[in-house]
Amino acid sequence: MTIASLARPEIRALKPYTAAVQVDDTIRLNANEMPWANNNDCFRRPLNRYPEIRPSALNALLAQHYGCQPQNLIVTRGSSEGIDLLMRVFCRAGQDSVATTTPTFSMYRHYAAVQGARIIECTTSRDDGFAVDVGALLGACDDTTRLVFVCSPNNPTGNVIARDDLVDLLKSRRNKSAVIVDEAYIEFAEQASMVELVGHFENLVVLRTLSKARAVAGARCGCVIAAEPVIQLLDNVQAPYALATPVVECVENILQADCIDEADGWTRGVVSERDRLMVAIREFPFVRRVWPSSANFFLVEVRDVTALLEHCVGDRILLRYFGGDLADCVRITVGSAAENDLLLQSFRKLRAS
Ligand code: PMP
Repeated sequence: MTIASLARPEIRALKPYTAAVQVDDTIRLNANEMPWANNNDCFRRPLNRYPEIRPSALNALLAQHYGCQPQNLIVTRGSSEGIDLLMRVFCRAGQDSVATTTPTFSMYRHYAAVQGARIIECTTSRDDGFAVDVGALLGACDDTTRLVFVCSPNNPTGNVIARDDLVDLLKSRRNKSAVIVDEAYIEFAEQASMVELVGHFENLVVLRTLSKARAVAGARCGCVIAAEPVIQLLDNVQAPYALATPVVECVENILQADCIDEADGWTRGVVSERDRLMVAIREFPFVRRVWPSSANFFLVEVRDVTALLEHCVGDRILLRYFGGDLADCVRITVGSAAENDLLLQSFRKLRAS
């Protein structure tokens, strides 16, 4: 059994869209484009022309950046698009299911619902630091489970899955499910990325994004890294010309060494600010618990969530509230040192009131 055999039969049978060929130094009368570029066009590739159907230079740069082969990577519109494509490739509506932990990133549930796939949620425990219980997660899967999502570091709790636990999960679900590790925040963690395991496990899928540590959320760019048959299936489904020329060029630019060095510096700064902020926040009497975090945010349990949120809004500071099982918690994103100081000042005012 290969990983491709787990995909929807109609997706396996799809032929990729055949686009008009693009050859340099030719007269292009094959794509219904205009021959002139707008005067304000400031890109290396003129905007009157379609972008490449898949951005080959950017694909190669991202593969180098993340340490994989180009054929093991597909560039997506944020990692969100990767989640959506995986649901559509592997889950038959009304039949297949997706397993994940809870609390976690809500988009797994959202895209599963869009595709008509059932979601199986395995609750993690606050007292256990929301650690993924691999035995429980495996126990929650059934014969219909095509995808297992693990977010590491997990949004909104900040904890990572240990490499050995992931390997257990991959082995136990071999020939049964693709196991997706969403590493949107991995650059903020001490633990290394699981990308290097992609060559060893055909059912491992890693999601990466440029939206967090690389500081270009506005560009909407991420990627899926997986075995080649998985990448080919995602490629069958992704829209032609999905990545717009301005996005492709912007991300090519920020993958240059000087930009990467600058963003790495910001990431180190965020990690040290995170640790400073967490220590300071633990001291407030209205803060009950702060969970350790490997991301650029951390989760805090507080005595009176509504009062805290309203107070912060009064100081023009927004924190993230989820409700539900986390009704007494807020997620705080680490900002610049100046922003974090303003948050602490606001907390001191609340303590004094
Ligand atoms: N995964 C996780 C865990 C996230 O928190 C987010 C964004 N909040 C995403 C994926 C999606 O990010 P993007 O589409 O910008 O890559």
